[in-house]
Amino acid sequence: MAAKNSEQNCAAIIVAGGKGTRMGGPKQCLDLCGKPLLLHSVETFRANKRIKHLVVVSDAKTFKQLDKEFQRLGVRRANGGETRLQSVRNGLRALPECVDLVAVHDGARPLVSDAAINECLDAAARHGAAVPAAPVKDTLKESDGRFVAKTPDRKFYWAAQTPQCYRFSVLTESLAKFPKEKDSTDESSLVEKAGHKVALVKSDYSNIKITTPEDLLLAQALMAKTKGTGRNAELRIGIGYDIHRMVPGRPLFLGGLQIPHSKGMLGHSDGDALLHAVCDAMLGAVSAGEIGIYFPPTDLTIMGISSRVIAEKTLEVLRSKNAELVQLDSVIVGESPKLMTHYAAIRKSLAEIFGLDESNVSVKAKSHEGMGELGRGEALSCHVIVMVRKK
Ligand code: MG
Repeated sequence: MAAKNSEQNCAAIIVAGGKGTRMGGPKQCLDLCGKPLLLHSVETFRANKRIKHLVVVSDAKTFKQLDKEFQRLGVRRANGGETRLQSVRNGLRALPECVDLVAVHDGARPLVSDAAINECLDAAARHGAAVPAAPVKDTLKESDGRFVAKTPDRKFYWAAQTPQCYRFSVLTESLAKFPKEKDSTDESSLVEKAGHKVALVKSDYSNIKITTPEDLLLAQALMAKTKGTGRNAELRIGIGYDIHRMVPGRPLFLGGLQIPHSKGMLGHSDGDALLHAVCDAMLGAVSAGEIGIYFPPTDLTIMGISSRVIAEKTLEVLRSKNAELVQLDSVIVGESPKLMTHYAAIRKSLAEIFGLDESNVSVKAKSHEGMGELGRGEALSCHVIVMVRKK
């Protein structure tokens, strides 16, 4: 089921056309941890592996202000309507017709997580419609305008959030059924009115909506905790070095990639000196020793393992230290093979292994001018510097 769901053609509409009455002005471009508020959720949706089409519904001023970012992220644009429902209708029109599932998200919810998007998409694939919601924490009072009319039982009440996810046909048919409807604060209410079952997906209290100035302060604090963007986030650097003998008849691995060559690096593992140096640099950045501690050369059970296993273990150590890799730069020193034509592939491989954007991975190679063991092609060495963010 999960594999089938992930193959479905998914789209997202991020609605950001609000006038921000309670905020004292439009909030789309307010600064939140060094980034316009709207961009946080747009980037989260763009990074989601299942969302193929992304539409932002907003106003001309916002599009102008975020033009460069939206171009970089390949975002489709649609104009905001008079009401939220009209904006959603405009967003739907900007999507191709082959979409199976659509997520509608509120641009004022910058803390939405990738996991929440996937859970709601899965629930919508199963049930037709799904809404993330958190159980109400306060006791509710129904008012007659002046006095308490009733105290409803809180356990039946949930506060709805976004992304609300639907089978494309369920959403479009429900909206078409009520063409004049304007006042609903979400599309789910129309889907319900059209007779569809809407699944509730238990969500996180941190997926807040920025409505009033104090929400922004709360979002800053939450973001500092979850994304390490606050004042407490600490940038650290680490250095790594490795050298291996080059011997005939072994495959040559560099950065997880096999490079065609008559020699390869001798080693207890696959001999990938570049991966070893990256891992040592990462461990160095969080003062967690070096790879020999986790993979001692005396341990015969790990003979010949892929250095990707070492990389996975190192990423695990980093996570346990509440840290993440931000950037890496490397120099490979040796006489042969010439590596310039392999730079792009090695960068791509390193980016994949360490979960980085390729723009944050650098690979360079230097000859050793014919001097010494490196110059005679008897060895290859690697130097790496990394930057790590510790929350
Ligand atoms: Mg090594």
